[in-house]
Formats: sequence, structure tokens, C-alpha cells
Amino acid sequence: MYKEKIEKYIEDHRQDMLDDICLLCRINSERSAYQEGKPFGDGPSRALAQAMALAEKYGFSINNYDNYVATADLNDKERRLDILAHLDVVPAGDGWTVTEPFEPVERDGKLYGRGTSDDKGPAVAALYAMRAVKELGIPVSGNVRLILGTDEECGSSDIDHYYDVEPEAPMTVSPDGHFPVTNIEKGRFAQQFTAEFEADTALPRVHCIKAGTKINVVPGRAFASVEGLDDDLIRETGAKVTEETGVLFEIQGMNQTLEINAVGEGTHASTPEEGKNALSALLLLLSRLPLADSPQSRLIRSLSELFPWNDTEGGALGINMKDEISGALTMAFSMLEMDESSMSGAFDSRTPICGNKENVADPICRKFASCGITLEGSEMTPPHYVKEDSEFIKTLLDAYERYTGQKGYCSCTGGGTYVHSLKNGVAYGASMPGTDNRMHGADEFAVIDELLMCAKIYAQVIADLCR
Ligand SMILES: [Zn+2]
Repeated sequence: MYKEKIEKYIEDHRQDMLDDICLLCRINSERSAYQEGKPFGDGPSRALAQAMALAEKYGFSINNYDNYVATADLNDKERRLDILAHLDVVPAGDGWTVTEPFEPVERDGKLYGRGTSDDKGPAVAALYAMRAVKELGIPVSGNVRLILGTDEECGSSDIDHYYDVEPEAPMTVSPDGHFPVTNIEKGRFAQQFTAEFEADTALPRVHCIKAGTKINVVPGRAFASVEGLDDDLIRETGAKVTEETGVLFEIQGMNQTLEINAVGEGTHASTPEEGKNALSALLLLLSRLPLADSPQSRLIRSLSELFPWNDTEGGALGINMKDEISGALTMAFSMLEMDESSMSGAFDSRTPICGNKENVADPICRKFASCGITLEGSEMTPPHYVKEDSEFIKTLLDAYERYTGQKGYCSCTGGGTYVHSLKNGVAYGASMPGTDNRMHGADEFAVIDELLMCAKIYAQVIADLCR
């Protein structure tokens, strides 16, 4: 029921919806320093104020939770469904070609600009779904609450603040991912580790190694400087490693000291198999050089054995595992800094539902200890799993199928989403399977037809779940 009415309503409001998205996307809501009453700085709270003004204009009752989160309620009945979206954005970054990051433009059916797809566009689409239900007079017996956060990109402390004082709705959807439904999110074991050792001046030796910028990013670049080796030998060994790995080595310097820059391909730590880890390739190269025996050179060989090239499932650490519903464990060696007497590094592992302290954290801890490496902690983030066979999930898949004509299905992600800590929450839209919105990159865009589709599907889901 209501499908034609909903479709017509959303199509008729296409321009209004885009105008509202642009209004929000013109505000740079990247997190900045705390100001009194603005926990994440000026930008996020301005975006929040703008979104609340829109929700109020459309007749929803609004609430502001100390500028961490704002909400818009469809009615004052018992709450049945929460829709969780966010208004903060990642930094603009460089390399934009279509428009300036905070000057959204429509081009060839796409809306370009920071936040258009992550997550202001989907947030407004959800607001229009609520408008459609309200203005079409679709009868509902429960409430829907749109929850707009302002700190999703920097740790989700916004919704921690909100859920400290408000209970979860029985069901929560978040348009901050892909359609159809993401009901499983892997757990995470991401840790820093350190070692200290006796400095040794025997040649040839490594002066320093430096790789990685963030714990959740596979490094596309890695650097080392070495002393006492012939550069022809390094070039020759490097060429062989390049043949095996595809990672390139730029070698510079003269006399005794040579600098090696490894150039691979960075990627998100939850999908390490999609990148070329420059750090692993660099360690492979270093471990094949005739370095003088020292605590440091032994440690370099150990690291290369613990995190060998292309071992993105933790095989060498003895923690490779998989299960039917959540797939294989992934392992990304993401950071390393080493000098002549100390080392610190980090890895990021995404663990399937079968992963736990006994079969992931403890074995790594033991392996590291045997190489003289200290793990900072053993705390794991548990996985998130909402069973597929509930009325809730069936309703979501059914609405998706009816509006898109595509088969609905549930899937698993290695990345954590906004709903990771909610009991009965799933990511649902807003983009269609296969669309890469360049979220977090330059030229981020949303496909306008997908935003409209999201609004229609959400309106139907509200109608069905709150009937
Ligand atoms: Zn997001």
C-alpha cells in the first residue's frame, strides 16, 4: 500500500530535498576544538541548528541534547523506530575537481560536495520520508525518531551521550552505508605494541624505519634508511621484491647512507587485501639484506615473519579463522616506527563472530612476547549481529525489493558503522550496491536518484513498521 503516493510525493519534492541537502552541505561541519556549548566546535553545531530549523519548519517536534545530537519526532506515540544519521563530515582534503568541497553542485544526476553522501544527503532523505508519511496522512500507531549526530567520524561520542539518557528504540536503521541491509559487523582487535633493545653500531645496519599514518589505514608508503650497504645490492634485491609484490622502491643517497621509499597502495584496514602494504614489502626487502646480526636486525626479521607480505588473514600469527556468517578474519599491519634502540607499531584486525580473546588476542600476545615485543592491551571490540529472520529485517528487505526490483539480502562488513553498539540496529542504505560515492575522498558525490529512492524506501518502511 501507498507505494504510488509515496513515489509521487518524493518525486514532486525532488528540488526541495536537494535544496535542503545543499543548505547543510554548505556548512563545513568537520570536528574542531571544543567551545562552550559546542562539544565538537562551531561547524557541527551550526549544521545541527540548520537541520533542526528544517525539521521544525516541516512540523516535527525537535529536541536538542546539548548540541551532541538533535532529534525530530514524527508524533508523540510510543517509539518504535529510530533512524540514525549524522551531520559531521571528514576534512575536505585536497584534489577536488568538480566543485569546491563546501559548494555543492548538481552534475549529470549526481550531487557533488563533502557530506552529500556521508551523511547529510541520506539524513535529509530520511527527513523527507517522515515528511511524506506525515503529509500524505499515512496512519501510524507508533513514533519514528530521526536522530542526528555530530561526531560519527571521530568516535561516536555523540550517541554515547544521547543513549546515556535515552533508551534504544525497539528497532534502529541507519542510512550511513549501503542497501540492502548490513546486519553483521565484525569485531575488532586493534593494538599498539612496543619493543626496546640494545643499540648496535655494527654495519650494515638500519638507522630508522617509518610507516603509516593511522591505525585503521594500510600504509601505501614506507621509509627506511640504511647504512653500510652497496646501493646496487639494494636495487637488485628491491627489484626482486617488486616482482613479487608490485610495491616499488625508490632508492636515494650516497656514500654510506641510503634512503629507501617503498610505494604501494593504501586502503582501509578492514579490507587489507585490496591494497599493497608498503610496510610489509619494505620489511621483506630489509630482511633479505645482509644486515649485521643485532637485536634490531633480529627484530626486523621477526616482524617480517609475523606480518609477511600478503598475509592479510593473520596466518603467520596463527589466528586465521572464518565462519559462515561473517567470513574471514583480516589483519592489517598499519604502523611502524623504529630507531636504533626502540620500536613502536600498530595493527588492526577485524575479527569474525567466532573470534574471541582466547583465539585472537592471547595467541598474538604469546607470539609477540617470544620476540620481545610488548602488546599494549588485549581489549577487543565485540562483533555486532542482528539475526536475519526477524520481522524487522524481513520488512526492510521487502521494501527494498518492492521499490528497486532488486533481490534483497543481508551482508557483513569489516568496518564498524554507527549502529555497532545497538542491540537491534542495522545499516540500511543510502547508496545502492556497487556505487562508490568516494566517501572521505575528493569529489564525494551522491547519486540523486539513489537519495530519492532512499527517501521512498524509508517512507514505506515507516508505514510498514509503524502501521
Ligand atoms: Zn558516515
